[in-house]
Amino acid sequence: MNICMVGTGYVGLVTGACLADLGMNVICVDKDEAKIEALGRGVIPIYEPGLEELVARNERKGRLRFTTDLKAGIESALVIFIAVGTPPRPDGSPDLTFVREVAEAVAEHMNDYKVVVTKSTVPTGTGKMITDIIRGKNGRFEFSIVSNPEFLREGSAVNDFLHPDRIVIGCSDTRAIEIMKEVYKPLFLRETPFVITDVASAELIKYASNGFLAVKISFINEIAQLCELMGANVQAVATGMGLDPRIGPRFLRPGPGFGGSCFPKDTSAAADIARNLGTTFELIEATIRVNARTKARMLDKIKGAAGPLPGKTAAVLGLSFKPETDDIRESPALAVVEDLLEAGVRVRAFDPAAMENAKAIFPQLHYAKDAYDCAAGADFVVLATEWNEFRALDLEELARAVRSRTMIDLRNVYDPDELRAAGWSYTGVGRS
Ligand code: NAD
Repeated sequence: MNICMVGTGYVGLVTGACLADLGMNVICVDKDEAKIEALGRGVIPIYEPGLEELVARNERKGRLRFTTDLKAGIESALVIFIAVGTPPRPDGSPDLTFVREVAEAVAEHMNDYKVVVTKSTVPTGTGKMITDIIRGKNGRFEFSIVSNPEFLREGSAVNDFLHPDRIVIGCSDTRAIEIMKEVYKPLFLRETPFVITDVASAELIKYASNGFLAVKISFINEIAQLCELMGANVQAVATGMGLDPRIGPRFLRPGPGFGGSCFPKDTSAAADIARNLGTTFELIEATIRVNARTKARMLDKIKGAAGPLPGKTAAVLGLSFKPETDDIRESPALAVVEDLLEAGVRVRAFDPAAMENAKAIFPQLHYAKDAYDCAAGADFVVLATEWNEFRALDLEELARAVRSRTMIDLRNVYDPDELRAAGWSYTGVGRS
């Protein structure tokens, strides 16, 4: 089956490569010429474990191609996936400009029956918007609209796509549902649960899922704050809560607030959806506020540990919004960097994958070659993203590099007792 993947970013590239691996013929289209040119040379524009081999293998087999020619992509495909960005507008509502552009291109170039699938995270009503655009411009060919939200996580995207918890297909048309089952047949045969519903419900499932996870993160961050005030240990509280199967242990790790390209954007969009419906999504509104407060609280923590900040130098370990990705969109680590700079601190930084992206926003930082180089001459260390290579640092070597043994561990990677026994002043999150 011929598939056109429009948008070759974190979602489109992974989805396109994985669908090719499942046996589909996939054309990935992007309007970013530099990205397509790089992909044509075998250069993967993002850091995502396993992706490079997957792309190379499927290109070799002739099942995966890259182009900027959207017309050719649309004409050649039965199924057109829309995987373009839906960034937040200043008021928090999702900007659907790119989705609209693709819908217009489909209307213009469709040459037969097409299944138009939104993979992008879009608010309820977008399926209808795409239908209206295509129908308004092209009355000659039939088409079906499907909402197929994506749940992959950056850093484990390939594995997540190939081993999903569920596949959501929102569609009211049996012909398109059968085609979508064919697209995902290898996963269907592996007994992946399929949730088949209407378009609006499928669109809402994505916001409901991300909103719920964001609530869970903010909940444990609030508990962490209580723990700090009352001298309790959030790790013990989270373990005690998480063993209840109705709660579960995942997403109960406190930290510097949620970030990334999805949770901040999707919580704002969920609040906006509710406002447009004339109501208030109280829990989500509170979660957004809690997250902003959590991020801001990190600077107080650093001040508490390091003393007056102006004129000091910080070693910040980790810049990406989570480990195993180079994505810095809405990264809490960058919020910490920004707060430190505003407080008059010089920042030395190291990240295994995200430094090139960070340089575009903070060219004034000193970018180090590893964690020890980062700590060289700094007054204190802030562990901001829990990359594996920061989990087992040689603390003696780190101590020789840094001016004072002060560690602010915003990801609770280290054991406070061990650090204190080694002469460090240690500050974690929610651990007195
Ligand atoms: P991204 O910014 O990495 O990629 C989007 C790509 O679309 C860019 O390369 C851009 O050049 C391209 N594009 C925009 N308009 C285009 C057009 N008219 N024609 C061709 N290409 C076009 O974004 P992403 O992180 O892959 O996210 C895409 C969507 O998937 C968003 O709606 C996001 O919310 C959703 N999503 C993202 C994740 C994630 O972890 N990143 C997970 C699930 C869902």
